[in-house]
Amino acid sequence: MSETKRNSTTAKVGNMESAILWEGRSALDGSPIALVATGLGKRSRNAKTGDIVQTWIIRRDMSPVEAVKTGADSAICGDCPHRGRMVDGQNVGRSCYVTVFQAPLSVYKTLPKYARLSVAEGREALAGRLVRLGAYGDPAAVPFHIWADLLADRKACTGYTHQWRQFPQFREFCMASCDSAADHADAKADGWRTFRVRSADETLQPREVVCPASAEAGAKTNCAACKACGGLSAKAKADIAIVVHGAAPKVNAFNGRIAA
Ligand code: SF4
Repeated sequence: MSETKRNSTTAKVGNMESAILWEGRSALDGSPIALVATGLGKRSRNAKTGDIVQTWIIRRDMSPVEAVKTGADSAICGDCPHRGRMVDGQNVGRSCYVTVFQAPLSVYKTLPKYARLSVAEGREALAGRLVRLGAYGDPAAVPFHIWADLLADRKACTGYTHQWRQFPQFREFCMASCDSAADHADAKADGWRTFRVRSADETLQPREVVCPASAEAGAKTNCAACKACGGLSAKAKADIAIVVHGAAPKVNAFNGRIAA
């Protein structure tokens, strides 16, 4: 980028807290989606993640609450098993830890107020920062080349995808989200680093370590300090595991799927 262009871009994004980084068709099903960044201008107070720019992948045409209710969240979550499944027009068995009526709904409602950055401006906004790909939504819903451009000057990133069987190029930025030892074995065979949710009585796999921010590890650090979950681009090489946690219905839904 030329110095003149860089200076004008820096002026535009300099004090911005949140912005739309990209809008387009979901790479998962073609629905209209938006990629939003929050925390661009100030330090995050989230104890687990620390100072990380959060990115949100949401449908452009309906609220995330409506999308979950109707199953239209497949546009941004693909075949993630934590979405739950539609039975007689109702979503049952949802075990995703994200409460969509909180931050994702707030991001959706605020969409009309956010500035829309070009990819070059987004790259500038993310330069030197730690970036979480998909605080809500699967990173693979956004085309890989958009992420590659946006993240070119990042300090580091963390990300997780359940679409690892279909989108191998995301190995560079993301961990393969695994919900079983069988998932872990398949992802390793395909060259991924993995982030596996396990039940409390499941043992670690070879080269797996416990997430240091987890309760079982004593919540020793946060993602900003750790930065292990950045796929193949992270300095860390181990795979990560965490014991299923969160609200009881979500834990029960996970354990039910494992037992099935
Ligand atoms: S292993 Fe590190 S980067 Fe990954 S979730 Fe745990 S604290 Fe965050």
